[in-house]
Amino acid sequence: MNRIPVFYSDAQVHDAGSFSKSPLKPGLLVRKIALDPCFEVIDPVVSITAEELYLVHDDHHVDAVLSAEIEDGFGNRSLKSIDAIKHTVGNLVQSARFAVSSNPIVWSLTSGFHHAGHNFCGGYCTFDALTLAAEELHRARNLKTLIIDEDAHYGNGCVNIIAMRGMEDYCRYHQSSHTHGDPGAEGATGRYGRELNKLLDEFKPDLILYQAGADNWVGDPLGGSLTMQQLYLRDLITFQAASDRDIPVVVNLAGGYADHYDDTLTIHMNTGEAMKEVFLGQAGNPIYPISAVVLENM
Ligand SMILES: [Zn+2]
Repeated sequence: MNRIPVFYSDAQVHDAGSFSKSPLKPGLLVRKIALDPCFEVIDPVVSITAEELYLVHDDHHVDAVLSAEIEDGFGNRSLKSIDAIKHTVGNLVQSARFAVSSNPIVWSLTSGFHHAGHNFCGGYCTFDALTLAAEELHRARNLKTLIIDEDAHYGNGCVNIIAMRGMEDYCRYHQSSHTHGDPGAEGATGRYGRELNKLLDEFKPDLILYQAGADNWVGDPLGGSLTMQQLYLRDLITFQAASDRDIPVVVNLAGGYADHYDDTLTIHMNTGEAMKEVFLGQAGNPIYPISAVVLENM
């Protein structure tokens, strides 16, 4: 592989008038990514149908959301937003299909999934594409999926769906709750790496869905405790663990709400650098802006 596929469609971008940057972030990021010859931007040209959503969500709930009878995850009732959300979910599911067809890494420029449960929306999340991709791949190809959620927040929606639909045997949810993704000074042999490597050896997933949350940054108002350097190391350890075992990874954006929008975009771009380092075998070039480092030390 000499270029990393990046799934993005203009159809998924919408202005939800929300504190969350999820709906606008992909459109801003793709402009930066498109300038880098290491990445190949692909429009998946897919949406998602009600029948597919029924695989993990309650039928009546799906119908009510799709018809804007009840609010989406952003608190809106807008058919225009719903169309963009359907394309966002379609992007992640299509990325997963593409990854298991012998692509070691796919970058899906999407977010807004893990707080959406079996019959509820919430926290800027409308439908859960993560468990949906896992369910579909289980039915079609008998595959096992591991969701590695390194967003700053707990994926209550994923956990709810896995329990409601009895998916435990083929879909596992993992968050490094004790370390919050902190790679520690020892890198891959530190607690984050050890915990992750152990889980991969035990569960033996066929696919990893990695939520590379930028809101785990210490400078994020809704966020965590990690510096940008620690976030980069977290990404490197995750990718290396997957690559060592030939497990394909779909990376999505997950949260990120920094006051300075560029800080969130920088963290996501650094995730792209970590992909280049592990999957293309070239030195990654993460950026740590002086202004961000100042914030980290406040
Ligand atoms: Zn979050």
